[in-house]
Amino acid sequence: MNTYIKIIITVLALMAEAAFAATEYASTTVEMTPIQVSKHVWYVKGMSGAATQNEGFISNAGFVITPAGVIVYDALGSPSLAQQLVGEIKKITQQPIVKLVLSHYHADHIYGAQVFKELGAEILAPIGAYEYIESAVSIERLEERRISLFPWVDDDTYIVKPDRILKESESFSLGGITFLINVVGAAHSDGDMTLYVEDDRVLLSGDIIFEGRVPFLGSAHTKFWLQTLEKMEMQSLQGLIPGHGAAAKEPAKTVSLTRRYLAFIRQQMAAVVDELQAFDEAYQQTDWSEFSALPAFKEANRKNAYQVYLSLEAEALED
Ligand SMILES: [Zn+2]
Repeated sequence: MNTYIKIIITVLALMAEAAFAATEYASTTVEMTPIQVSKHVWYVKGMSGAATQNEGFISNAGFVITPAGVIVYDALGSPSLAQQLVGEIKKITQQPIVKLVLSHYHADHIYGAQVFKELGAEILAPIGAYEYIESAVSIERLEERRISLFPWVDDDTYIVKPDRILKESESFSLGGITFLINVVGAAHSDGDMTLYVEDDRVLLSGDIIFEGRVPFLGSAHTKFWLQTLEKMEMQSLQGLIPGHGAAAKEPAKTVSLTRRYLAFIRQQMAAVVDELQAFDEAYQQTDWSEFSALPAFKEANRKNAYQVYLSLEAEALED
């Protein structure tokens, strides 16, 4: 074949490849190594810290490999991180990713969702997701992250709408593995849901449980959240993957930090509200030493306390 024709063929082949290849996102430099927690369940662990540290890789994502496809739980904080996760999953299994279950609609868990949508996965979200999608906060947050997490979050990053909203808990099976999606309701966010892998007795909890760091309360309904944690039957669990921090082999201990923090902050702020004390002064006077050495304390605690203070004032008016 003459060289000229060879070049034309090569150029055409390259053009065809570019047209059919999935979108390429800016590559990351962070470490992401899947950790296996049970026969079918794996996760990747973000670094505990504030939202824009570690190229935005600060939250966890889980995945469950079944003989009939992979279910992913949470999409990480940028399309680039999600692309990296998909690459890691492909190293372990040939199975396609068929479902993405989103624990809740917060930036650090959903900005990677478009990668899974491109792969054709069904995207499930809890009731309450649209309250976030349609809020001014979600638009402002995305604009801010396009700067603070550039180039991993950029103008092509968008908030993916779920294919299906879950209003109630439901169970399904895939490849002989039984799953239970538990719709917790508005706890940490406007809507939270957990994924329980029954065969492995492993719970993927999203942000209703944090490990090793101060939780971000945001728009949380701390009263309901605390009640949920207190009700959780942890004894039968073999493993627990929280939204942030390491997976626990002793789930009860992991739950305890989030539960203690919520109980403490509510108790302290309740006293402040009862005495009609000003927030600033009360915040200064509170002894935060039990939690002040934890990651994200500096970034989150004052805002958390203020949020709880305001919601307790509202609760007091409701009673
Ligand atoms: Zn989170």
